[in-house]
Amino acid sequence: MTKLNADMPDSKGYFGEYGGQIIPPELVKVMNDIDEAYEKVTKTAEFQRELHQLYTDYVGRPSPIYYAKRLSEKLGGARIFLKREDLNHTGAHKINHCIGEALLAKFMGKKKVLAETGAGQHGVALATACALVGIECEIHMGEIDIQKEHPNVVKMKILGCKLVSVTRGTQTLKDAVDSAFEEYLKDPVNYFYAIGSVVGPHPFPKIVRDFQSIVGKEAREQFLVKENKLPDVLVACVGGGSNAIGLFTAFLDDSSVRMIGVEPGGKGLDTDQHAATLTLGSKGALHGFECYNLQDSDGNPLPVYSIASGLDYPGVGPQHCHLKDIKRVEYTSIDDSECMDAFMQLSRLEGLIPALESAHAVAHAMKIAKTMSPEETILINLSGRGDKDADFVANYLSL
Ligand SMILES: *Cc1c(COP(=O)(O)O)cnc(C)c1O
Repeated sequence: MTKLNADMPDSKGYFGEYGGQIIPPELVKVMNDIDEAYEKVTKTAEFQRELHQLYTDYVGRPSPIYYAKRLSEKLGGARIFLKREDLNHTGAHKINHCIGEALLAKFMGKKKVLAETGAGQHGVALATACALVGIECEIHMGEIDIQKEHPNVVKMKILGCKLVSVTRGTQTLKDAVDSAFEEYLKDPVNYFYAIGSVVGPHPFPKIVRDFQSIVGKEAREQFLVKENKLPDVLVACVGGGSNAIGLFTAFLDDSSVRMIGVEPGGKGLDTDQHAATLTLGSKGALHGFECYNLQDSDGNPLPVYSIASGLDYPGVGPQHCHLKDIKRVEYTSIDDSECMDAFMQLSRLEGLIPALESAHAVAHAMKIAKTMSPEETILINLSGRGDKDADFVANYLSL
């Protein structure tokens, strides 16, 4: 644990002004019970042994750090390194916290794990983790998303989770959240709601961060072994913010390390087709916590857009909001065409097809690498692989 992190969040779940529990009073006790169980259970040697065994033998951790030589040389500036979360089982960083949450639910004696999913990435990672630890899993998904995301829908079914089609409202993520939450409220003592990023009421931003912090912990050690010094800059994409905080946490006290979170600039910050929450949002409450969010004048979340469905969220994790305010992390955005360009460059120069989410981080690293010297280094969190995006990109670029 780093110093900056040790006292975060406070006992009420606040990171500075952000986070907390903006929920009905009867749920506060439920959340606090989860927090208490979390603190107790995850500190036991038995839990840690099982978690780390699964990280090693099942996920394939530690994921390597790879020096992207051809990409770096083409840009002619800083040397670019990638933390290869794309190599994890199921192809992204999400499995790190899904296994943690499923295992926690099992240790707490819960009967069922519940969640919503938008494009299905969280759903597949969670269904995988639940199959692995042997606990019932129920995922709510909008009917429109179900029709759009066939491969993930099929995977969830094969993995044995109960998939609930949500046919109310817009039949997309927002309604899936409401539907899953209603189911959760039927029996919060026996159900566990597995949140998919560092968002939601306390203690979830803390729980998900802690499970993802393995990424930065490994990366810091690996980088020191490889280069004998720390990276100059860290870059990660930010949707809810779990892969970014997972990388950043281990480096928060290293004042020489600059950190940059990259949001989806979509079709441009001057349009309403983006999800640049930290860049253009304002403070408000959303999904049970306080954060920067993109909201209308009545405080309702605005529709957001990203070419990468995993970044498509009107709020952002409370710790990122705090890190922005205290200026420890910089936040910026990358638009669709820059993202596509980075997606193709990394594919063709390195043979690595990145997730469109991760391509936002790659695009920003490419931008700043050119302005830096070859003695300097950038470490990107390559949060996931792009197999899921291949058809979309081929279509978009008429390949
Ligand atoms: C879901 C996802 C993201 C965005 O989530 P964060 O919580 O911001 O990390 C980023 N990259 C990939 C590959 C994803 O699947």
